[in-house]
Amino acid sequence: MTKINILPPLVADMIAAGEVVERPASVIKELVENAFDADAKKISVEFSDGGATYIRVTDDGCGMSPEDAGIAFTRHATSKLRDEKGLEAIGTMGFRGEALAAISAVSRIELVTREKGAAEGVAVTVQAGDIIDMVPCGCPEGTSITVRDIFFNTPARLKFLKSDRSEAAACTAAAMHCALGRPDISLRCRRDGEELFFSPGDGRAESAAYSLLGRETANSMLPCKAEGEGMAVEGFVSSPAMGRGNRSNQHFYCNGRYIKSALLQTALEQAYKNTLLTGRFPSCVLYLSLSRGAVDVNVHPAKTEVKFSDEKKVFDLVYQAVRATLEQESAPLEIGLSESTKRIAAAAKPDFFRSMSAGEYRREAARPSQARPSSGFDNARPKPAYYAQKAPEFVEKEREKSPAYAEKTVENVEKVKESACRVIGEALGTYIVAELDGEMLLIDKHAAHERMIFDRLKAQNREIMSQTLLSPVIIKPDAGDAELIEKNAQLLSSLGFEIEPFGASDFAIRAVPDDIDPGEAASAAEELCEKLRCGGVDAGSVRDELLHTVACKAAIKAGRRHDTAELERIAEAVASGRVKYCPHGRPVSARLTKKELDKFFSRIV
Ligand code: ADP
Ligand code: MG
Repeated sequence: MTKINILPPLVADMIAAGEVVERPASVIKELVENAFDADAKKISVEFSDGGATYIRVTDDGCGMSPEDAGIAFTRHATSKLRDEKGLEAIGTMGFRGEALAAISAVSRIELVTREKGAAEGVAVTVQAGDIIDMVPCGCPEGTSITVRDIFFNTPARLKFLKSDRSEAAACTAAAMHCALGRPDISLRCRRDGEELFFSPGDGRAESAAYSLLGRETANSMLPCKAEGEGMAVEGFVSSPAMGRGNRSNQHFYCNGRYIKSALLQTALEQAYKNTLLTGRFPSCVLYLSLSRGAVDVNVHPAKTEVKFSDEKKVFDLVYQAVRATLEQESAPLEIGLSESTKRIAAAAKPDFFRSMSAGEYRREAARPSQARPSSGFDNARPKPAYYAQKAPEFVEKEREKSPAYAEKTVENVEKVKESACRVIGEALGTYIVAELDGEMLLIDKHAAHERMIFDRLKAQNREIMSQTLLSPVIIKPDAGDAELIEKNAQLLSSLGFEIEPFGASDFAIRAVPDDIDPGEAASAAEELCEKLRCGGVDAGSVRDELLHTVACKAAIKAGRRHDTAELERIAEAVASGRVKYCPHGRPVSARLTKKELDKFFSRIV
């Protein structure tokens, strides 16, 4: 047996550094968090290459006295925690007194700092944990820490760093997460002198999201807010039409701290259930505020994991907040004119405004005036929007005349209100063209109908009505599918499908849901098998997936003509805001405003 040694402090710090300083990005996170704790209003983050050779974080915070600057690099040196009681209610980003010790153990550091109100500052040079120089110096109030040659004395760790590109991406993400968490602080981030981003620090979450996530992402986000049970959540979530291929735009904060949380991620994604395509993910920036006792941040040195004392309450709050936001969102997607159309319109403009020659003018003036085609149709039919608006006056007048008759009027007015959407017709066999409140509405008839059926089936929440087929449809599934059909017979039957073994390896479909055309029976069964094969996280989500198939098969199809009454029913559901996305998250409608059309035709400029 070898003799037990107590490790020298530097070795202990180097081991601990592994947990705090995983890569250059962790240094950025720790230094920026220290600046937050120092009440900085402006922070600058600079780095070179992948950050391993050079990182500098400068702030205009409270600064340090020469005494504090001398001990800040010692392990467990912190100004943020005094005793064990403080651990239960941590209000600062740091408290473990580890970061500067850990960073300085594996790099070369220059610290320049001046305490607020002090006559002069101090410059400290630290190398592998040892202070090698400390001199008074003139400098602005605040702190600037330069970290060079990270892992220069731990070659094994240096080897684990990825390419400069990936390390730089991680550095940028770390700075970005910090900045997004504190819209009240302005943060500028530069790599090799080139600005990567700048957050204005005006205290508005919208401004932070706009400058950090980009215009397009920020503009597609919907505000989200809820509170209760001593906690609150606020921020933005993406509209279902803006699902992304990954989760990189999901940002969660807890009391100002950027956190990774499977719980919050699940709450968010569950709220989008049946509005997003499988494999697409919502984006969000959600700030959670909890009382300090309701969350433990002391789970890991990096503090990106937290433990909530009541997980269910947190889950419910976030889930309900996001659901409420998605339910409120009623505005259909707005179609912008395509770039090429805009170019055509722009090029055409000079002609419209060209002044006419005298001859042209005379010819033009002599032409019989082009009366607009009589709008007999419009006049013959009441303008629903007008009536809806005038409804209260109408009802009052009628009530004075005859109370009984007035009730009838109320009913009629309600009907008119509902049908404030006028179906003009169907285009390309696929889209319903309608008019609603001075806007032109285009509706994907299949997608909208699919959603209506899906919602109805889901709300039924019991066995779905089925129809027995006059002659059963025989299918020949492969061995795997055959097993799935047998195993899930009960589930399929609750959805209205009766599928039984028939002969040696065939199956007979004897009944299908009421809404499905018997001609679709075989293809529906095939799709159901495919969904059963992929499965889902729980029985509920498998059932939802299967309901998607039923709804899709039962919905009216693009390419086929449908009668006006059917189209009107769909248009009304969309106009009322009840139907927004198909069960896979595709939008069901788009609109063109009168203003946009007028602009295009140069009726207005
Ligand atoms: P912690 O943040 O957990 O307290 P650190 O090792 O990160 O531990 O920092 C040690 C101490 O150094 C802090 O408690 C603080 O007093 C001081 N300090 C570090 N960075 C700054 C800064 N940018 N401005 C003012 N003081 C700082
Ligand atoms: Mg710290």
